[in-house]
Amino acid sequence: MTVSPSFAAAAKQGRVLIAGATGFIGQFVAEASLEAGRTTYVLVRSGPSKAKTIKALQEKGAIPIPQGNINDQEFLEKILKEYEIDVVISAVGGDSIRDQLTLVHAIKAVGTIKRFLPSEFGHDVDRANPVEPGLAMYIEKRTVRRVVEESGVPYTYICCNSIASWPYYDNTHPSEVLPPLDHFQIYGDGSVKAYFVAGSDIGKFTIKAADDIRTLNKSIHFRPPCNFLNINELASMWEKKIGRSLPRVTVTEQDLLAAAGENIIPQSIVASFTHDIFIKGCQVNFSIDGPNEVELSSLYPDESFRSVDECFDEFAVKMKDMHQEGAKDDGIAAQNHVVEKMLPITAMCA
Ligand code: NDP
Repeated sequence: MTVSPSFAAAAKQGRVLIAGATGFIGQFVAEASLEAGRTTYVLVRSGPSKAKTIKALQEKGAIPIPQGNINDQEFLEKILKEYEIDVVISAVGGDSIRDQLTLVHAIKAVGTIKRFLPSEFGHDVDRANPVEPGLAMYIEKRTVRRVVEESGVPYTYICCNSIASWPYYDNTHPSEVLPPLDHFQIYGDGSVKAYFVAGSDIGKFTIKAADDIRTLNKSIHFRPPCNFLNINELASMWEKKIGRSLPRVTVTEQDLLAAAGENIIPQSIVASFTHDIFIKGCQVNFSIDGPNEVELSSLYPDESFRSVDECFDEFAVKMKDMHQEGAKDDGIAAQNHVVEKMLPITAMCA
C-alpha cells in the first residue's frame, strides 16, 4: 500500500499519550516518542519514587498528566478529549494488565483515538503458552486483545520478543540483571534461539509503527536477524568482551519448571517465561504469515537494529566503570554480576 506524503506528515504530528512511561519498557517508548518530535503526554501516578524519571522526561519535552491512573474512565475520557490525543500507548506492568480494560472503554467512548497499543512488548500471547504463573499474565493480555478487537478500537500489538539484557539470571527481571562475571546459567542444552532487541529499538520501532497505516489492526513481530542468538552464543560473545572463560552451569527444564511451580512472584513468572523461550522455543516455533501480522523488517527494511554485540560492549564499559567506582569507594573490587547501586541504570541496553 502506498501512503501519500500528506497522510504521512499528518500522522507524524499525532499526539501521543503514554501510560507506564516511568516503567522499564515505558521509558524507552516515551524517549523515542520525544526523539521523534511528537507531542508526548505521560500519565503520572502519585508517589515520590518516580520523580527523577518524570523530571528527566519533562526536560526532554514530555508533558506529565498528574494523578494519571488508567483505572479512572471519567478522568481518561476527559484528558483524551482535552489534549486531543491521537495515539495511546500503554506500557503498564504485569500486575496492571487488566486495568487496561477501563482505558479501552474510555478510548471507545471518546471515539477519536486513531490507534491503541496495549501493554504487550513481548511474545505473541495468542500463540505462546507458558506454564503458570506466566500463563496468567498471558490470559490477561489475551483478554485485553479480545476486548480491544470487539470494541472496534484501532490497535497495534507490539511483539518485540526479548529485551537485549542478560536473560533472566536467577529468574530475575531483565531490569535487574547484568551479564555474569562468575558463571553462566545455560538453560537446557543452550541451543534454542531467541530474538533480542535493544530497549531504544523497542521504543523507536513502537513509535514508528504507532500510526503507520500498514500496522493497523496487526501484530508486529520483531525478528532482527543480527540478534538471533542462543544462550551458548550469548555466553561466548560475553566471554570475548571480558577476555576470559567462565564456567557453565546447566539449568534444566525440570529446574525451571520447579522454580515456576514455587509460585513466588515475580521469580516464578520469570522462570515460566525462561522455560517458554529457551526450552520450548516460543519465539521461533511459528512463521509470521497470517493476514493480521507482519514482521518489522519488512516494514522498515532500511532501518538497522542495535546489535547485541554493541549492547555487550556497552555493558562491559559500564561494568568496568562500576568496578573502578567500587574499588575507589571501599577498596573492594566488584566481582559479582549484581552491584546494587548501579542496577537501575545499567541493567539494560539502551
Ligand atoms: P514496570 O513495572 O517497569 O512499569 C509499569 C509502569 O506502569 C509504571 O510506570 C507504572 O507507574 C505504570 N502503571 C501501572 N499501573 C498503572 C495504572 N493503573 N495507571 C497508570 N499507570 C500505571 O513494567 P515493565 O516495563 O516491566 O512492563 C511493561 C510491559 O512490558 C509489560 O507488558 C511486560 O510484560 C513487558 N515486558 C517485556 C519485556 C521483554 O523483555 N520483552 C521485559 C519487561 C517487561 P508507577 O511508576 O506509578 O508504578
